Amino acid sequence: MASKDDEKHTKFLLKEKDIPTRWYNIQADFKTPAPPVMHPGTGQPIGPQDLAPLFPMELIKQEVSQERWIEIPEEVRDVLRLWRPSPLYRARRLEKALGTPARIYYKYEGVSPAGSHKPNTAVAQVYFNKKQGVTRIATETGAGQWGSALAMACQFFGLQCKVYMVKVSYQQKPYRRIMMETWGAQVVPSPSTDTQAGKKVLEMDPDSPGSLGIAISEAVEDAATRDDTKYSLGSVLNHVLMHQTVIGLEAKKQLELADDEAEIVIGCAGGGSNFAGLAFPFIGDKLTGKSKVRAIAVEPSACPSLTKGKYAYDFGDTVGLTPLVKMHTLGHTFVPAPLHAGGLRYHGMAPLVCKLYDEKQIEAVAVPQVATFEAAVQFARTEGIIPAPESAHAIRVAIDEAKKCKRAGRGKAILFNLSGHGHFDLGAYEQFLAGKLQDYEYPTAKVEEALRHLPQMKA
Ligand SMILES: *Cc1c(COP(=O)(O)O)cnc(C)c1O
Repeated sequence: MASKDDEKHTKFLLKEKDIPTRWYNIQADFKTPAPPVMHPGTGQPIGPQDLAPLFPMELIKQEVSQERWIEIPEEVRDVLRLWRPSPLYRARRLEKALGTPARIYYKYEGVSPAGSHKPNTAVAQVYFNKKQGVTRIATETGAGQWGSALAMACQFFGLQCKVYMVKVSYQQKPYRRIMMETWGAQVVPSPSTDTQAGKKVLEMDPDSPGSLGIAISEAVEDAATRDDTKYSLGSVLNHVLMHQTVIGLEAKKQLELADDEAEIVIGCAGGGSNFAGLAFPFIGDKLTGKSKVRAIAVEPSACPSLTKGKYAYDFGDTVGLTPLVKMHTLGHTFVPAPLHAGGLRYHGMAPLVCKLYDEKQIEAVAVPQVATFEAAVQFARTEGIIPAPESAHAIRVAIDEAKKCKRAGRGKAILFNLSGHGHFDLGAYEQFLAGKLQDYEYPTAKVEEALRHLPQMKA
């Protein structure tokens, strides 16, 4: 398809009225239903009541809904309006540097106040909690991207926010903690003495650096033991992926403005939410026979759940408190290397993304750390924006696909999600620029060991 190259548009902007009014639920276009979530004790599918202590009923309904379109409440759109619609850019300067006939587009989610795509779901989740009378939300955060998005959303709707932040990050990365506190959240280093789970860890190891698994256990315990409090998760779950589809729905309209059609859609994948948010509206057209788009999820080679994990039932957290979900997993006890792309260090992957991968509707690629920073710096030096290390994984593969177009002598429209900016990750850039950044090999032995601890499913 020809694009309006003569007009040299670089930015494709929508108006506020173009913010989507409905979320797209890809489950409606599945030929077979997604595998049920199982109770670890009984081995039976769980029901809405099992999740009610942790989530408001409206979100539980969205989690299992088979409706194709779900209305976005006006109160949610009113907040999204602060930064949405987000811009779609044509990366003309990057194209030129690569000498590629490919047309590279990127959707920029770093324009949100928290600097990533995560507020798209944080705002929706807090709204539905408030509607049910919940006054306080507990969550965990690693480097702080999710915690800051939720802190801001809680502030907007007048809810209290308690964030259990992994202790090493709390000590080493104070800036996101300060953001969360500026938005009014209470942040404690995890393990903390505020929960039984935290106390138990501290008794055994007073100097524990903490982990995401421990922080999840603390936040879940907090929510389960207080009537005024619910728990909130920033990725992986079906409703989270659905809230992020505003990204892809906007991008489709913006490509129409560009008079172009995406042939390859790319997103980095940690828990799968920004990849799904961009790609699902495009994949929906593929599932219904309207397009042949290729969608590629990009993960770090040090934590390759899709490309190297097993498609099996596993716990969502490290400790084993959550229900069991069927996903590509490296084993819930697997602890990935301390990558700079902290948002991509998760042992599993969103079940909806995994089902599409298992059915070969999407592709997945794993890329090493140094190569992603090379792509990030090339992007920053041509397009200006300094990307989050997570987003740089998508850039790496977009550049690789554009180079393939060059070799083949045929241009394609490539669209990727620039899920956030890297202003809080400059320490990682400093290491890269000093030549000190290292690659982590795929940890075969650690994964094999972790996969031995997958929960046994009753037949
Ligand atoms: C959290 C985060 C990710 C990874 O999470 P997904 O759910 O896979 O999207 C990617 N990019 C940025 C900027 C993030 O903050």
